[in-house]
Amino acid sequence: MSIAVLPNSPDTAPQMIDPLDHLADKLFHRMGADGVYARTALYEGIVERLAALITSHREAGTEVMRFPPVMSRAQLEKSGYLKSFPNLLGCVCGLHGTEREINAAVSRFDAGGDWTSSLSPADLVLSPAACYPVYPIAASRGPLPKGGLRFDVAADCFRREPSKHLDRLQSFRMREYVCIGSPDDVADFRERWMVRAQAIARDLGLTFRVDYASDPFFGRVGQMKAVSQKQQQLKFELLIPLRSDEQPTACMSFNYHREHFCTTWGIQDANGEPAHTGCVAFGMDRLAVAMFHTHGTDLSAWPAKVQDVLGLQPHVAAGAHGEGWR
Ligand code: 5GP
Ligand code: ZN
Repeated sequence: MSIAVLPNSPDTAPQMIDPLDHLADKLFHRMGADGVYARTALYEGIVERLAALITSHREAGTEVMRFPPVMSRAQLEKSGYLKSFPNLLGCVCGLHGTEREINAAVSRFDAGGDWTSSLSPADLVLSPAACYPVYPIAASRGPLPKGGLRFDVAADCFRREPSKHLDRLQSFRMREYVCIGSPDDVADFRERWMVRAQAIARDLGLTFRVDYASDPFFGRVGQMKAVSQKQQQLKFELLIPLRSDEQPTACMSFNYHREHFCTTWGIQDANGEPAHTGCVAFGMDRLAVAMFHTHGTDLSAWPAKVQDVLGLQPHVAAGAHGEGWR
């Protein structure tokens, strides 16, 4: 972990500087909570171009769905999320009482007290990953066709892990390609995407490596799940050394869920067996931060090949006065 410590000044405690901090002012506006940022036009332009690049690699026959930042609490519970990551879940709450009860809560707040003790959970959670809602939708369509189904999904995702690091957000964008099919369909899909995703990272001029990984399963039982996940090679990550070589940042993941979602939702393959699923996830915010960390915040100084692959061509129209970067 390479963290610089500023020398002690008489009236300040030692301040930790993270290697990504220098990007904050150019890319984000603070919103009063760690890991939750408003984004500048410079930043958002690159997120959009990365999204377009990922779209340009979409396989034929892939169905596009875009999800809101919330999903059904019952569906996420049924997916087993509470068994694996209960500590990361954000649940929507509201004041669901009578008019009197709601007024009482607001009055408590007005008097300087706590109104949140009157909250109760709604039937919604904040989506912790983009692919959860697609499985029940696929299940509602009956048995899978031969070759399975492929989806292109995206959502604003939430994970309750406040951090000051710019590559660990509580609210971040995730784009995924998902495959539901036979074990062979899913294995082939993941192989293809692991090759394609590395080509994308190379085209973007990023330094990376791909390695086995495990999810941050909660608690002591979770540690065992993580070991087994690694042993079975169910998860790979594309890691970019943003902070240090020893602690690189996962910017994409390649996941094989086996039959988990299909036994949960009753999805059968063309032979009547529980189908398998896999997904490739692109962390759009981490990829954008990685681009600025690697190439700087002056887009005109980015390598020509990278500008080209993102469509960042200079605008040569007369009278552009040098402001022609689109
Ligand atoms: P996974 O489901 O594999 O944990 O997450 C998929 C991808 O979402 C990760 O590879 C990463 O790029 C992105 N992601 C996961 N957690 C965070 C986070 O805390 N902040 C940001 N910006 N992206 C994240
Ligand atoms: Zn997924």
